[in-house]
Amino acid sequence: ARRAGGQRRLRLFRQSMLDDAQQRVSLVSELRRGIERGELRLFSQPIVDRDRRVIGEEGLIRWLSPERGLVPPGGFIPLAEQTGIIVEIGEWVLEEACRVLAAWKREPERRELTFSVNLSERQLRVDDFTERVRAIIARHGIAPGRLKFELTESVLHTDLDRTIRLLSLLRAEGVLSSLDDFGTGYSSLSYLRHLPVQQLKIDRSFVSAVVDDEPATAIARTIVQLGRTFDLQVVAEGVETEEQFERLRDLGVDAFQGFLFARPRPVDETLRELNSAG
Ligand code: C2E
Ligand code: MG
Ligand code: MG
Ligand code: MG
Repeated sequence: ARRAGGQRRLRLFRQSMLDDAQQRVSLVSELRRGIERGELRLFSQPIVDRDRRVIGEEGLIRWLSPERGLVPPGGFIPLAEQTGIIVEIGEWVLEEACRVLAAWKREPERRELTFSVNLSERQLRVDDFTERVRAIIARHGIAPGRLKFELTESVLHTDLDRTIRLLSLLRAEGVLSSLDDFGTGYSSLSYLRHLPVQQLKIDRSFVSAVVDDEPATAIARTIVQLGRTFDLQVVAEGVETEEQFERLRDLGVDAFQGFLFARPRPVDETLRELNSAG
């Protein structure tokens, strides 16, 4: 009886693995079809300075699926990374970002703003990545210094030398780089000396704990000090309350992003705001 039960469990286990695999396969094919049909949407969220003035925006992707509704990045980016579809998605995001920057260029109010794009490790490993970036920038006629790439510490785990080389190439073009979700990775801090980035983004997990949790505050304070040492701008992400904002400002954080200031909204809405303001 025990054996029969074991086999039954095994069968159920196999079945659920199959279901899982099938779901992933169908999600992948839906996503591929969705991309062809133009279902990707780029949202963006403002980044503000210590006086709450907007200094830039971060692009955040969504997938508007007829079957699934508005899918957040967590629902398809991991799979897109595993299958390599992320490379195509990333190109699309970069195109959109440059389209936005080209529109801003004509507006005195916005021409100084930066637009940040999240970059997956997979994209960085494409052979001609920097040439592609250069080509898109040139085609849109934007200033490279308005474009910023956000990378997580995970890109530092494989082939650090190559990552440093690529970021240096981008920097030489004028493109900026940022370390996203900073403080959550396992990297040694010594790499910061060699890494051509201009910004650190304090992860939301520390930001949300900063008011009543001393260790989180200590981490935020340390990141600010690191920023000063290496001459990097320090941004706090996921700021939701006035209290968090004030605490972080007292700690010396340079810039802020979060629901307290604005929620992510479609980039085309931000462009409409611009037209109606002008
Ligand atoms: P991230 O780059 O760290 O982006 C910040 C995330 O925090 C966004 O989630 C944003 O909507 C959310 N957020 C902003 N302010 C607040 C706040 O005050 N409270 C809370 N609770 N959340 C806030 P989202 O849009 O779901 O994106 C999640 C992640 O997906 C991003 O984290 C980024 O790693 C990835 N991602 C988004 N767009 C892209 C993309 O175009 N390419 C790649 N490779 N990854 C992307
Ligand atoms: Mg980001
Ligand atoms: Mg982030
Ligand atoms: Mg984050």
